[in-house]
Amino acid sequence: RLPEPTARPHRSRLLVLAGPTAVGKGTVAAHIREAHPEIHLSVSATTRAPRPGEVDGVHYFFVDDAEFDRMIGAGELLEYATVHNSHRYGTPRGPIFDAIAAGKTVLLEIDLQGARQVRRAEPSASLVFLLPPSWDELVDRLVGRGTENEEERARRLRTAKVELAAQNEFDHRVINDDVARAAEEIVSLATTA
Ligand code: 5GP
Repeated sequence: RLPEPTARPHRSRLLVLAGPTAVGKGTVAAHIREAHPEIHLSVSATTRAPRPGEVDGVHYFFVDDAEFDRMIGAGELLEYATVHNSHRYGTPRGPIFDAIAAGKTVLLEIDLQGARQVRRAEPSASLVFLLPPSWDELVDRLVGRGTENEEERARRLRTAKVELAAQNEFDHRVINDDVARAAEEIVSLATTA
């Protein structure tokens, strides 16, 4: 009797999710974390402080500036950037390549500067741009979450305009009209793209 055929993993993929401020990248990534444990969500290093409910090693690796500098120097980061003119964020290289070697799909939720660096470092990566249903919707979301003051909001909206103009650099565009739907569309890109 022949052995049962073993399931072959899908062609491993590196998916990069980026998009303008307040479009809901974090929410969509959180949905994928819950609904698709088979997908490896990259955990970034950051120099910002944890927010309530964030767990070190799960949502981010919270590090100080000296440790971030050390990681850069040691070549441990696939990409890194200063985001919103304040804190540094970077993608640890090791866990990603371990997951890919294990046949998994890996998802990076990073900013536009980071996405461009990944494109250069890993040309086979699939870049996904998350879009708001409309500009007005984006403004409503930024105001609605109430985490920025007036000046910071204005600054982020200016940045969002510039970021939206970059969507044509991406391989795929997904509209965040509904979190679960957008998440499933992104996951389907991993297996069919
Ligand atoms: P937050 O501080 O709200 O968690 O994230 C702020 C921004 O940093 C988001 O736009 C997020 O996509 C971006 N970000 C998170 N991790 C990384 C990373 O490893 N690299 C880069 N380039 N951006 C990141």
